[in-house]
Amino acid sequence: AEDLAGRAVCVTGLGVSGPPVVWALLACGARVTVVDGRTDEATLRLARGLREEGAEVELGDDGPQALPEGAELVVTSPGWRPEAPLLAAAARAGIEVIGDVELAWRLKPAGQIWLAVTGTNGKTTTVRMLEAILRADGRRARAVGNVGTPVIEAVLPDADGAADDVLAVELSSFQLHWSSSLRPHAAVVLNVAPDHLDWHGGLEPYAMAKGRVYAPGTVRVVNSADAWSRRLAAEHGDPAARLVGFSLDTPRPDELGVVEDLLVDRAFVADPRSSADELASLADVVPAAPHNVANALAAAALARSVGVAPESVRAGLAAFAPEPHRISHVADIGGVAYVDDSKATNPHAAAASLAAYEPVVWVAGGLLKGADVEDLVAAAAPRLRGAVLLGADRARLRTALAAHAPGVAVVDVERTDEGAMAEAVAAAAGLARPGDTVLLAPAAASMDMFADYNARGDAFAAAVRELRA
Ligand code: ADP
Repeated sequence: AEDLAGRAVCVTGLGVSGPPVVWALLACGARVTVVDGRTDEATLRLARGLREEGAEVELGDDGPQALPEGAELVVTSPGWRPEAPLLAAAARAGIEVIGDVELAWRLKPAGQIWLAVTGTNGKTTTVRMLEAILRADGRRARAVGNVGTPVIEAVLPDADGAADDVLAVELSSFQLHWSSSLRPHAAVVLNVAPDHLDWHGGLEPYAMAKGRVYAPGTVRVVNSADAWSRRLAAEHGDPAARLVGFSLDTPRPDELGVVEDLLVDRAFVADPRSSADELASLADVVPAAPHNVANALAAAALARSVGVAPESVRAGLAAFAPEPHRISHVADIGGVAYVDDSKATNPHAAAASLAAYEPVVWVAGGLLKGADVEDLVAAAAPRLRGAVLLGADRARLRTALAAHAPGVAVVDVERTDEGAMAEAVAAAAGLARPGDTVLLAPAAASMDMFADYNARGDAFAAAVRELRA
């Protein structure tokens, strides 16, 4: 682990990863100055606590502009852009800027293994599945990242002086952008679709940031069905490192030379250099939507890269419980299934869940963040019984539906207050027939109407329960 004792470190941003980064640095004996532009009550309270623990804290506009005197290293919140004045000043002064993940990598215990997961969609699900598989194999393992434990907390010993043996690390494109020496044992880019393009300045730089996960020596796990995943592994990965593809198709050698497969009723990973190991059956993967089976195969491949037994893959997947608001079955009412996929916050995610249901009454809308919905609507059109649109950007969806699904009934929910979701669910129930699925897969962010995707999904579930009452 890197020796930070006595070094002057500047931490930018008191977001989710900020406080644990400060605690980790203080525990290493670094001299820490934190800057954040906010001055709200919660930030002030946090600042008081950090000062008591020995950090200097500068809040307000003057803080983020200037680099603190004598700073030797900057640990930035992943969401800060390189153009931010303080980070630009650090770059000009030749002072290294890293993110929370890079810091965690430098501080981690020597024997700890990292298995890394990135991609536009499916990261949280995949690291959780991987955690379940590793634990079923008896490893001391933990999923870390955006949901649950920040990675920096998992590299420091706990009260008993012990640390995890293996981490299943969820990585965002931002965190990868700010990582330089990260070398996971194995890594996967699950998929790449347009998201966060304003931050990265386009799809190419966004994808390239994700490609950094395939570091020198890292076992490359590749989604054979995703062109970006293949390309990033080929162009960014270490050509000498092992390459493992996975796909949902029946056996065929893919262009990377590795076959991995899912048959109709059983999943297995077949490596041409070894005999085929059946890893799990489809019944072990819940929900068994195709994209979720892909996540399970990715988790299985990562687990196998550290020698996990085939039986543990099955046991782990069977034990895995999906996170809320990710294709969660809410209720069956009058022969209609109601499914909450509020976490489908971009068109690529919504396309994946729509592909799993037919006929489907689609509840969609919110903030599209400039994303294009033409392909999504065109692909979904043949499966749609109807669509119910709500939120700020619903007109864009309505126009696309008129073009690609002219015969499909569309209900527009104009209100944007608390009652909007109940009205949407009632309208969807009116369109659905027995055997249909009503699917909340917004393809959009929730912040126009809700605190976050959790609140949106909760509102959907509450409205469904109202229907039954
Ligand atoms: P992330 O952490 O990357 O946001 P999650 O596991 O939380 O991913 O899943 C978010 C949403 O993305 C899910 O609700 C589902 O709609 C969709 N999704 C999950 N896995 C995939 C996948 N492999 N491909 C496409 N969409 C997916």
